[in-house]
Amino acid sequence: MQVYPQSRLIKIDAYSAVAAWGLLGLAIVLFLAAAALKVHIFGAIIGAITAFMLAALIHLGFALAHKCPHCGKHPTIQGFAKLHPSVPTATGVDGWARVVVDVVRRQEFACMHCGTRFKVADAA
Ligand SMILES: [Zn+2]
Repeated sequence: MQVYPQSRLIKIDAYSAVAAWGLLGLAIVLFLAAAALKVHIFGAIIGAITAFMLAALIHLGFALAHKCPHCGKHPTIQGFAKLHPSVPTATGVDGWARVVVDVVRRQEFACMHCGTRFKVADAA
């Protein structure tokens, strides 16, 4: 399995996506808590939403900054194209989210556009 040449970029890309998911979840939890408990935490909700948008912007910026060396497409930007048939979809998480989860949890991923498998290096 070849090492992804832009490992540092895809790692920042993946971790910022995970941070965005977490912050969106936090904003939803805060919103539900505020509604259920009738507490005034509007500032905290706005803060979580702002942090979510920042993380999402960082994710988008880094997602555009690297490309698969095999097919020239962005591994974490799905678009409307069909996924490569060799990319596993059985877990319910597929497409760009699968790439993000695989980079964070396994330090490897398959390009969803061409199916090429890459290892994510620690220092690259
Ligand atoms: Zn590719």
